[in-house]
Amino acid sequence: MKTFEELGLNSQVLRAVSDLGYSEPTPVQEGSIPPALDGKHVVACAQTGTGKTAAYVLPLMQNITRASRKRPVPHALIVVPTRELAAQVEKVARVVAQPSQYKVRSVVGGIKYKPQLERLARGVDVLVATPGRLIDLIDDKRIDLSQIQVLVLDEADRMLDMGFWPPMKKILGMIPADSQKLLFSATIGSEINKVVGTHMKGAVTVEIARKGETARQITETCMPVVFNQKADLLLALLESKSTGKTLVFTRTKRRADMVSRILGKNKIKNQAIHGDRNQSQRTRALGDFMKDRIDILVTTDVMARGIHVDNIDTVINYDVPVTPEDYVHRIGRTGRADQSGDAITFVAPEEISAFRDIEYLTKAVIPVSDLKGFAYNPERIVPAKDRKAVKKKAVPFSHRKGGGGRGRGRRR
Ligand code: AMP
Repeated sequence: MKTFEELGLNSQVLRAVSDLGYSEPTPVQEGSIPPALDGKHVVACAQTGTGKTAAYVLPLMQNITRASRKRPVPHALIVVPTRELAAQVEKVARVVAQPSQYKVRSVVGGIKYKPQLERLARGVDVLVATPGRLIDLIDDKRIDLSQIQVLVLDEADRMLDMGFWPPMKKILGMIPADSQKLLFSATIGSEINKVVGTHMKGAVTVEIARKGETARQITETCMPVVFNQKADLLLALLESKSTGKTLVFTRTKRRADMVSRILGKNKIKNQAIHGDRNQSQRTRALGDFMKDRIDILVTTDVMARGIHVDNIDTVINYDVPVTPEDYVHRIGRTGRADQSGDAITFVAPEEISAFRDIEYLTKAVIPVSDLKGFAYNPERIVPAKDRKAVKKKAVPFSHRKGGGGRGRGRRR
């Protein structure tokens, strides 16, 4: 393994690395930083938790030069799918920008235009933006992309999922043709390949977690349960073991609120964070979670992509995600750089098919783990032990009587 010095970073950026408290590069940093410093386009397949933010922020800060001091125009643009991610990236970028005194600004939706514009007017070298607000400001001629030297598309797959392809295309069309492009994505599908083929010819590909692969330090299990026993199972699970800092995922915003309410009624401190919450509610919930004032955050897939919180011990998939890629994103929240974590997935009979899709994608059989003493409704469906994570040879599921008693699970 190389050191940060050996990757070719200059002394200013190395100072920032030490300010960030990093002693050695993560694999995605080791793979991305040298070609990025060489000015090459880089496509990195890396999920959250791998250190991808520093993998692009460090070389970007070294590569840009302040071409013009006359106009406050950005030289680097980092586009991310959500406001929360923008806030996290901005934080890292500010630390890295400090030695060189580059100005880092962000433009995101959900907050007033005026203060953002006032900050922009005071100068900007590195702009962190979510696509919607960025396009609004471009259309209003408030932001000029003609001096962009480096463009980063972070969580590109999620931006495509969220329907941000038209703004991304517009941005790609507006920046100088010879600008450097760095694209980071948890999965690289055909859509991303199209973007790369058109806009990033000759890109160096860095593959850390291969497509559909989940991070290694995560212990994954599933808990088969009937749909209407999920709340009881969650309460019993939280009572039986200490899950530490926990993210609970539901399929919809309404279900996130419902789970949050049930936990609250049972005196379990938690908050729900999703797209229907306003910005200050979201910021407060995330702040409480980050500062350990609450241990449990209930959330949905779209929201979760923007959450960067360290030391998440457990991810509970209260609902199986609709797309298997979301599973990889969800559990990527735990087991981050050098840490281990648990990922527990509740699987109701009606979710078996979506659950099997996850096993096919990750090419792994997720072991069944039953909660001792929980009165499982025997109507649940337990995946057969000898099933294979290969679609063609799928083994049918067997019904199994639940252990530990009859009838409904206990409620606390
Ligand atoms: P990211 O994938 O960018 O969200 O980073 C995940 C976490 O890993 C963040 O908390 C970073 O501060 C941390 N991290 C990133 N790079 C390193 C490194 N080289 N050494 C230790 N921690 C790191």
